Amino acid sequence: MQELLFLGLFMGALAIGWLLGRREAIKVGFMLEPHGSALDRQYFVGLNYLLNEQPDEAIETFIRALEVNPETVETHIAIGKLFCQRGDVERAIKVHQNLLARPNLTREQGDRVQFELARDYLVVGMHSRAQRLLDELIESSSPLRAEALVDLVKVHEREHDWNEAVSVGRKLVRERPGFAVTLAHYHCEMAAEALQRKEWQQARVCLEAAINTDKTSVRAILELAALEESRGDALEATRWLQQLVLIGPDFVPQALPLVRRCADNGGLILADYLDKVIERSSPPQIVTVLARADEIKETSGISNASRYVVAHIQNQPSLRGLIYLIDLHKDKVEPRGQQNLTVLREIVEALIIDAHHYRCEACGFSGRRLHWQCPTCHGWSTIRPLKGRDAA
Ligand SMILES: [Zn+2]
Repeated sequence: MQELLFLGLFMGALAIGWLLGRREAIKVGFMLEPHGSALDRQYFVGLNYLLNEQPDEAIETFIRALEVNPETVETHIAIGKLFCQRGDVERAIKVHQNLLARPNLTREQGDRVQFELARDYLVVGMHSRAQRLLDELIESSSPLRAEALVDLVKVHEREHDWNEAVSVGRKLVRERPGFAVTLAHYHCEMAAEALQRKEWQQARVCLEAAINTDKTSVRAILELAALEESRGDALEATRWLQQLVLIGPDFVPQALPLVRRCADNGGLILADYLDKVIERSSPPQIVTVLARADEIKETSGISNASRYVVAHIQNQPSLRGLIYLIDLHKDKVEPRGQQNLTVLREIVEALIIDAHHYRCEACGFSGRRLHWQCPTCHGWSTIRPLKGRDAA
């Protein structure tokens, strides 16, 4: 079916190209014999191949018949693209290389062919060849410069060459400001490598570059808070945690152990901090609500903590909230009731194990842990924690 579709598209492209080529030939006086010319003969040979179910030979013959002139260049580019999309990259490369060798291409056409050829090389993993072609487009003032930068940055990203990715990303962000979100992640990746080498100062520089690139980079904030705490600067760590409440309250659960340590050191008041997080999230994450319930239990007793959680899960049903309530009340009921609650708890826990807690807003991928880059669509910062009924 797919093969038939491709052949249909291919024949359509050729027919248009042939008509254009024929018109061009007549215009310049080449086609003295419109019937029975070499061009027409090649078409009949190609047709014979098709009828004899030899599509490869037919395609070769048709391409040979379609002369390259200013009006058929687009058709050739489209044919090459079709080959590439179909997975026949070797043939796509041949078509595009053949085109690029033509001396009569306009500057714009030459750029387009070069760009398509670079994409062919990327598909087959010939990165250095692709990179050379893309570099040339980037250095020129080609209208395809931004697209070439996008492709080139992806090459460095795939190779985890974060230095180069940052260098190309900086050029790209000037053309496409929205790229700042991704660029900030590249800085964070560099910071992660510096942390592995225990180069704390270098890691801090990279994370600060990330936050300067994208002020809303939750990842940079979380990592800066952790870095400062690990270096013994609780005050600075607290400052970043306060920033996290403003920028990404839904991500506070990622930092709860750190928040608790900062509270123990007197850097912040846990109850006030959690209230602020809950106030700024709509609805709040159940993990944050339960951390606040723990505080209520400590200061005001089990009944108040229970009322607090019930009030929340009545609006936002939550399995974790249910487990919390079971644990709160298990010891207060008679042995038979305790047994029933234990069975109920096991069932709810099994449901939680199967549940996904994060989802990609771009492609719908869902998983149990937070990825900064979606494993399916490779988008950065597209995965968010599930909340409320989605999380339930
Ligand atoms: Zn995705």
